[in-house]
Amino acid sequence: MAQQVQRTLAIVKPDGVEQRVVGKVVSRIEAEGFRIAAIRSARLSKAEAEGFYAVHRGKPFFASLTAFMSSGPAVVMVLEREDAIAKWREVMGATNPASAAPGTLRKELATSVERNVVHGSDAPETAAFEIAYFFGGVDLIG
Ligand code: GDP
Repeated sequence: MAQQVQRTLAIVKPDGVEQRVVGKVVSRIEAEGFRIAAIRSARLSKAEAEGFYAVHRGKPFFASLTAFMSSGPAVVMVLEREDAIAKWREVMGATNPASAAPGTLRKELATSVERNVVHGSDAPETAAFEIAYFFGGVDLIG
């Protein structure tokens, strides 16, 4: 049975933009067979970062994470391919670069568990929320 095309939200976080690895990440995305359905730069306010990471409110790293995510511009994208959510998380690697598999973006580029260069949705419901968060009202190219 043919697998369904799925969408996920990807972010090159402020540390990735600062390191100038946006091109490297986008090249990898294309090489892995994703189609970029939307892409833009976003400078998150602290409140926007808090809204985006609302599920982590109350965790010890919440203040630091949202300060980091609002510290500079990020690049947000909607990626499309079969099994996009799981596949993008596989390409990103584990949250902590110390435990990320060789060849993953986080293993290659991340500098800490917080400054880990990329974000990816973790389930269809979160993907829908996150895509609407940044691209609500945008007609995604089908
Ligand atoms: P992800 O789905 O792999 O991005 O991981 P999570 O949803 O668990 O966490 C969201 C983001 O919070 C991560 O990508 C990190 O930037 C940050 N983060 C997660 N765990 C920690 C932690 O233990 N300490 C700090 N400082 N940041 C963390």
